[in-house]
Order: sequence, then C-alpha cells, then structure tokens
Amino acid sequence: MISELPEKPLACWRGKERYGNELLDCLTIIFKSGGCSWSKCRMCSYRHERYGEQSCDALLSHLRAQLAWVARENKSEEYRMVKIFTSGSFFDPAEVPPAFLADVAGAFRGKLVIAETRPEFVQEDTFRGFIEGIDDGTWKTPLYCAIGLETSSDTIREKCINKGFSFSDFTIAAKTAHAAGAGVKAYLLLKPLFLTEREAAKDMETTVQDVVPHAEMISMNPCTVQRNTELEFYWKRGAYRPPYLWTVLTLLKNSPVHMTCDPLGGGQKRGPHNCGTCDYELVSGIRDYSLNGDRDLIGALLETECGCRAEWEYVLAREKPYCMPLTR
Ligand code: SF4
Ligand SMILES: [Zn+2]
Repeated sequence: MISELPEKPLACWRGKERYGNELLDCLTIIFKSGGCSWSKCRMCSYRHERYGEQSCDALLSHLRAQLAWVARENKSEEYRMVKIFTSGSFFDPAEVPPAFLADVAGAFRGKLVIAETRPEFVQEDTFRGFIEGIDDGTWKTPLYCAIGLETSSDTIREKCINKGFSFSDFTIAAKTAHAAGAGVKAYLLLKPLFLTEREAAKDMETTVQDVVPHAEMISMNPCTVQRNTELEFYWKRGAYRPPYLWTVLTLLKNSPVHMTCDPLGGGQKRGPHNCGTCDYELVSGIRDYSLNGDRDLIGALLETECGCRAEWEYVLAREKPYCMPLTR
C-alpha cells in the first residue's frame, strides 16, 4: 500500500467539527483524483484539479502515495473525525479506483468518516463494504456521505448550477445510504448564479425545509467566485455578487435545525461579504456558531450596527430578477 511517489494531497489540515453536542478533532483531506466525471457545474473550479489521462494502476499509485503522506504527517490518536473530499466524488469508481476505498477504510478504522460524492455513486454494496472496513463499534453511524445537493429546486439546480441530477436522485441516494447504515450530509449553495439576493434567500429557506427529512447534517455554503469558472465570467462583468453576510446570518438564525456554515473567502470581494467594515467580526462569529450552535450569538451578530445593513435591505427589496430573452 505504501507508494514511493513523493506526493501530497491537494490539501490536508486539522480543525474542530461539531457532531451532535460534541466537538471533535477533525482531519480534512482533499485527494487529487482522476477528476469529476460530471465536471460541468457553473461555479466549480475543483474539477480542474485532476491527474491527466491515467491507467487505473497509475491512479491508484498516486492516491496511495497521498494516503501514505497523510498517515505519516498525522498521528491517528490526534483526531476522531475524517472529512474526505476529492476533485469530484470519492465513490466514483472512474475517479477513485475501488481498491483505494479499502486502503482508506483500513487507514481510518475507528474514525467517523464523512466522504463527498455525487448521488449516482451511492451504492449499497460499496457503502456496506466501506463501513465494514472503518467500523470498529466506536460510532453508531461511522460513515456519512456528503452530497452537494445545492438546492431542492430542480429548476435552479439545472439552470443556475448545471448540476446534472435531480432532487429525487438525491432522495433516492439518501435512502440507499441509510439502508446501508450510513448517514447523509447535504451541502447547500447559497446564491447560485442568476438569482437575486432575495430569490437566493427564499430558495435556501425552502431547501432547508425540504432536506431536513433526508439528511442528518446540513451545511450551507455561501457561494464564492472561483477562478476559471462560468460564474467568474459573469462576476467580472458585474453580473454577479456573492451573498451578503446579513443574508447568511438571517438564514442561520431562522433555520429549523442547526446548520453549519464555513464562509470561505468571507469578507473578500470573491466571497460572501458586506461593506468591508463589519465583515471580519461577522465571519468569525459565523465560524464560532458552526462549532457552538449558539443561536443567541447569531441574534447578537444580526443586531450589529453598520451602514451596510440599509444597503442590504434596499437590495432585498429592489433587486430585479435576471431576465433571459424568451425568444432568440
Ligand atoms: S461541483 Fe462537484 S459535481 Fe459539480 S463539477 Fe464540481 S466537483 Fe463536479
Ligand atoms: Zn457593514
């Protein structure tokens, strides 16, 4: 299993994650893989992070080298949770050779594993095999599959994101995961391309309600403008603005369940931001809330006084929906 290739994952870091009422030490890994099989989402640049055309064996050696690096650099007793991302889907056999799943399961036996995948790769047999590998009885649910559902609206997912699957694909995958003994984490995208601030907030409210029956964990991702994406094309022409932090806070406060949120790029022009003056405090408060689940903190942050609040209210009231011509 040990490869001699001097390779590292795309990223690997340690942090804390909330699980139930506990705070766990968490190892997060982003493996460089064969790349997303779909590769068409309008806001995504992760899909560019991939090995070129490779044989299955070569890909396996690259992945094994990365796993060996992770094991060398991180003592197993120092973390209890592992979050696994790739440049697409961890359970896609074309992207991650199935033999690698067994290696990962062996390396993280006894850990609580969260691994990201598109719904079409949620297969009961694969999940059962993987769970068998990691489960040593420590966790009631040792595996969660994280699915980037983004929104429960099929229209928004198709037109604004181009995600290539439907809400019912997600609910079927959730059912399959549960049948295999895994849990489900849903990633939701706040403010895809073409939506006004108000439309985006409404879509997120509806989505959370629709997703609660199917997922034990929900994470809201405020959209960021990644490089070399279609979203960036529009943003550079003034046709897109990432969501306001006021919107993020309002949604966290009103959510019927605890939603985690890591506002990547928060306070920067490519990430969720307000005016520049109040951003730092709000972003760090949102990060704290993800860990402590303290709604009063969110309430207090929403009371922060800043001139940009009136601007946000004006935008909510007056921004006009994106209008496409009806004919060519
Ligand atoms: S968002 Fe996920 S599914 Fe879409 S292109 Fe990126 S990696 Fe692939
Ligand atoms: Zn402000």
